[in-house]
Amino acid sequence: MGEVDYPSTLLENLVEELHKLPGVGKKTALRYALHLLKIEESEALALGRSILRFREEVSRCGECHSVCDADYCSICQNPKRDHSVVCVVESVADVMAIENTSQFSGVYHVLGGVISPMNGVSPADLEIASLIERVEAGGVSEVILALSPDMEGDTTCLYIYKKLAVFQVEVSTIARGVAIGNSLEYADEITLGRSIVNRVKYKV
Ligand code: ZN
Repeated sequence: MGEVDYPSTLLENLVEELHKLPGVGKKTALRYALHLLKIEESEALALGRSILRFREEVSRCGECHSVCDADYCSICQNPKRDHSVVCVVESVADVMAIENTSQFSGVYHVLGGVISPMNGVSPADLEIASLIERVEAGGVSEVILALSPDMEGDTTCLYIYKKLAVFQVEVSTIARGVAIGNSLEYADEITLGRSIVNRVKYKV
């Protein structure tokens, strides 16, 4: 769709906003916008409200930095989880993917991204210092690096590994080639679950 004349500036604004979402082209954005006019007003407002409430009220877990509705997430609050094993992931989506496998009973640490000089992401932009603090505080026997199997993931693993070298902690990694991180479509649950169970000692 090239330059289009919109019959309404409000419609144009909404299409522009929807078009900013990942995977939403202008045609789809227009379809969504017009759909919002077709449905019950209460339904459209409910969508708007849930976006607002999500952005304004959702919090970050004080321990693992996943998203939650309280000070700490339900995983960190669960005494049945093994708090000595910390799985380091890039995003909340990764936590959800690993939880879906039902193969991991430890806890998580969400970095919020990976080190990427190209995209201007440095270690200071990520939850790395808080991870080191967690280990330093004691009680952590193993850190599992479950980051994307690409250059940025590798760089981040090595950086964390070096930072953890001074502590008495095992550092392991999930099997290579298992899709995690960037892509929201994961290797099937069985493969991902297996890679966590069969994790290996991290080697430089
Ligand atoms: Zn948590």
